Amino acid sequence: MPPKEALLARHQHGKKFRILKKGGPVISDQPGRYAGCVTTKVFGRLTCRVGMRMKPENRVFFHAWADAVACGYRPCRSCRPVKLTSR
Ligand SMILES: [Zn+2]
Repeated sequence: MPPKEALLARHQHGKKFRILKKGGPVISDQPGRYAGCVTTKVFGRLTCRVGMRMKPENRVFFHAWADAVACGYRPCRSCRPVKLTSR
């Protein structure tokens, strides 16, 4: 492993994210790309102002647009998240 990658791996070691998938929540080492609110069933960008206001315990994260939609969430009208298709 090249030194740079080793450094990166060490830096990210132990960082886990709770991600909501179509089949249920999973623990991933990849951060979510969308943030949702369990009470309003709205999802948006991670930087959404509406999202920032919600309580941390009400926040959920998604990797994919399809997962959010499958879980019954709808896109936020404030930040208008874009459907990201490639990683
Ligand atoms: Zn929003």
